[in-house]
Amino acid sequence: MRAHLLNNTTAEHYRRSVTAGVERVAATLAATERPFSGIGVDELSPAIDAIDLDRPLGDTAAALDELGEVYLRDAVYFHHPRYLGHLNCPVVIPAVVGEAVLSAVNSSLDTWDQSAGGTLIERRLIDWTTDRVGLGPAADGVFTSGGTQSNLHALLLAREEAESRPEQLTRLRIFTSECSHFSVQKSAKLLGLGPDAVVSVPVDREKRMQTVALAAALERCVAEGAVPMAVVATAGTTDFGSIDPLPEIAALCEQYATWMHVDAAYGCGLLASRTRRALLDGIEHADSVTVDYHKSFFQPVSSSALLVRDGATLRHATYHAEYLNPQRMAEERIPNQVDKSLQTTRRFDALKLWMTLRTMGSDGIGELFDEVCDLAGDGWRLLAADPRYDVVVRPRLSTLVFRYVPARVTAPATIDRVNLYARKALFASGEAVVAGTKVGGRQYLKFTLLNPETTAQDIRAVLDLIAGHAEQYLGESLDRAS
Ligand SMILES: *Cc1c(COP(=O)(O)O)cnc(C)c1O
Repeated sequence: MRAHLLNNTTAEHYRRSVTAGVERVAATLAATERPFSGIGVDELSPAIDAIDLDRPLGDTAAALDELGEVYLRDAVYFHHPRYLGHLNCPVVIPAVVGEAVLSAVNSSLDTWDQSAGGTLIERRLIDWTTDRVGLGPAADGVFTSGGTQSNLHALLLAREEAESRPEQLTRLRIFTSECSHFSVQKSAKLLGLGPDAVVSVPVDREKRMQTVALAAALERCVAEGAVPMAVVATAGTTDFGSIDPLPEIAALCEQYATWMHVDAAYGCGLLASRTRRALLDGIEHADSVTVDYHKSFFQPVSSSALLVRDGATLRHATYHAEYLNPQRMAEERIPNQVDKSLQTTRRFDALKLWMTLRTMGSDGIGELFDEVCDLAGDGWRLLAADPRYDVVVRPRLSTLVFRYVPARVTAPATIDRVNLYARKALFASGEAVVAGTKVGGRQYLKFTLLNPETTAQDIRAVLDLIAGHAEQYLGESLDRAS
């Protein structure tokens, strides 16, 4: 069994095995004609259940053959131009090379004695990002597993800055727009806040937080004897890509001495754009910022960071253990990241961004993100001119929320069902993948455009496919009714 251990004597076996895996993936990617095979759970799960995990196949080639059958053939492929579903990006090759290196070397970024240069590389990338945000000289941060963890971490710091006595936690309030990410609610629960902790602030027609309503909510909170713990502004809402008015929110946070968190999980790609960076103006006032490189920096999952204006606030998650990071390490000025992190053993995800910046540069990433934002503009014009569709807002980033509106049907519940059906049928056909969401209680569809290879022609074609499925559903339900 030692032949399977990666070491000095197995370097050649490693090279051959990994190359075989890479070749499989390359062949699959080259031959993929649609984003999904359309396979159903009922068809796939018996194949996976039938595999006896206690009877190994013995060699990589056989395991890869099997994997082709149970995974690679039917996976959902984000690199395909007609994958328009969730916030998943096609990945850039330098980052995939970084991924291969980081998993083979397998550094753990908690302490210097498990990573050495990895710690310094992560720190450079945190500094690079905080510079782009404009958080100032005391800024710091840490890589995380994703936006959900970054938001939780930010709100932990905000809670500790506001109040840490357990009997007071139910008085704390977090203000966030009705379009913000559900991880804000999850975080409030995990942080032991009360059930009313998250105050939902209405949005304007462009799906941005209404600052007049925020001001009123903050005033009410204080009048009621509660404590405004944080305002979570979103720079790129998951559904609409809308960006809350950051300068006005910053002013209110200052007035109420409240922590300002900016969730830029999606919008962070603007930090690399040479033409759209101004959309993030005001983000430099934040106390903390979430960025998901695995959304708009074209990085493989996972790659995210939490950034803070005042690095000293990260101490709220610091604990010392003799076996890992004794106090004396800090005194000896040995750098470690575990003092700043919620995780202990932690992937060297930063290496992927490092390879990306060193190979293609930040402008390269920004160009790709600009392309998908431009494409969303084209898609919006197509939808706005198409009588079959109703489109919600002109995109700031790269999502489009719309619904099919049949010419002869007006019953809202029927229109909901038509759209739900069209999405499902499209997924089952495998020809394209789109997402769904609700707006004002009604069912809508969503394109999340993160692939610069997607064209306006693809958008047109997918709209025709959706219309086809919708009309087929209406035809069949008319048949059923007659
Ligand atoms: C995706 C997203 C998150 C969560 O990030 P994960 O990486 O999926 O954990 C948080 N906020 C916003 C606005 C997002 O779009």
